[in-house]
Amino acid sequence: MPPANKKKQGKVCRDCHRVVEGENCVICGTTNLSDDWSGYLVIIDPENSEVAKRMNITLPGRYALKVR
Ligand SMILES: [Zn+2]
Repeated sequence: MPPANKKKQGKVCRDCHRVVEGENCVICGTTNLSDDWSGYLVIIDPENSEVAKRMNITLPGRYALKVR
């Protein structure tokens, strides 16, 4: 069930657009995170997702389309 408030969904990695729930990106390990993002995206099967390919996403998970 998606949270009603976007701000509660966490921060987004500026490098790979992954939605992160801690202080580090689980993919890059970076702390380069932003809470100013839009476009919630759930990637289940990156191999067969055009969006995932365009964004260079190789792991399933939650991502943001745009990060400032
Ligand atoms: Zn990242």
